[in-house]
Amino acid sequence: MNCNLCDKPLTDKIYQSETARSLTSLCTLYESSTQVYFCHGCAHVQSIEIANIDNYYDSDYDILVESVEEDQVYEVVNGSTIYRTEHQVKTLIDKVELSSEMKILDYGCAKSSTMRALIVNRPDIQAHLFDVSDRYIPFWEKFLSNDRWATYVVPGTWNGFFDVVTSFFSLEHMAHPQNALSNILQVLKPKGIFYGIIPNVFTNTADMIVVDHINHFTDVSLTCLLRNNGFEDIEIDDKSHRGALTFKARKEAVRSADDNLPAPSEIQKVFNETLKIAQFWKSIDSKVRDFERSIQYNERFAIYGAGFYGAFIASCLQQPERIACVIDQNPFLHGREMNGASIVSPIELPDDIKVILVGLNPAHARKMIEDIPEFSRRQLSYFFL
Ligand SMILES: [Zn+2]
Repeated sequence: MNCNLCDKPLTDKIYQSETARSLTSLCTLYESSTQVYFCHGCAHVQSIEIANIDNYYDSDYDILVESVEEDQVYEVVNGSTIYRTEHQVKTLIDKVELSSEMKILDYGCAKSSTMRALIVNRPDIQAHLFDVSDRYIPFWEKFLSNDRWATYVVPGTWNGFFDVVTSFFSLEHMAHPQNALSNILQVLKPKGIFYGIIPNVFTNTADMIVVDHINHFTDVSLTCLLRNNGFEDIEIDDKSHRGALTFKARKEAVRSADDNLPAPSEIQKVFNETLKIAQFWKSIDSKVRDFERSIQYNERFAIYGAGFYGAFIASCLQQPERIACVIDQNPFLHGREMNGASIVSPIELPDDIKVILVGLNPAHARKMIEDIPEFSRRQLSYFFL
């Protein structure tokens, strides 16, 4: 296997899951092990791609398709919920100057709730959409006319047409990100802007073990990818979107011919940090099971978090039938099930439950639990990843 970004052979496997079962970004089980490699050529972190990847995104990948409004919680501040879409729109407006009548393309857009929300605030902007599946057209039809989108193949009439191309949580899924970048370069006007968000494996460490995230970009490998594919003025920021890297780059006026790889010292620094994350995930299965054994055999418990971290904890348990419920603050998930247990709000936690396994990003988990008033009034004990 070669690096998706710099094409060097990948020889350094830094992580392999203990079992032959993995979890996808949609928290569904996938019958294969997760294997992650580090590229010493460009500091990219890369997983083995899942089988039949094109078919997976065309037919099986159902992100947030239950309703137009369904969204993910970005954060809860003083009891009020901020959704991912509204945060993404705010960050886009902060970072990219959007002038009137500007043409913008959301590439790999799924439902594109971001464009839908953007044009509510800015009806003067001409939004367009592209994805490798037809399944989101019913959502697109609700806010754009059908000359504003394309699926599978980027139309030739779009060449040099766009001022801005966006990509929200899409590049990490791609087996051939250069092909996407080549398309994006082609459709941008001279000096057009490519703006995007991808997971940051250093601040949202579960990204390493999400089996359908082939690419785990580091700021070093992302810079290398953009620079070697026709972009300049590259800005990468790890603060604007929690757990993610936000980037902005400009189409080069004149395409530079030489490919540049990062300095060995830069690569070594990223490698050391990456190994720490791999080590964390190698030991975590047994940590969860040790804790499970420490709970009285007839006692039921709850999992906090119906997202990836919660699903990961559930997948480690020897007796998942002991999960009484899964607690989550996202109202779109209430009433659904995870591992056969109901997803409920914090206030609905049954009185007899005393133990909660917290399935949240370890970087923020303790603070998020402290901020839940329904829990602070009760005698609860917690397990943190
Ligand atoms: Zn590489």
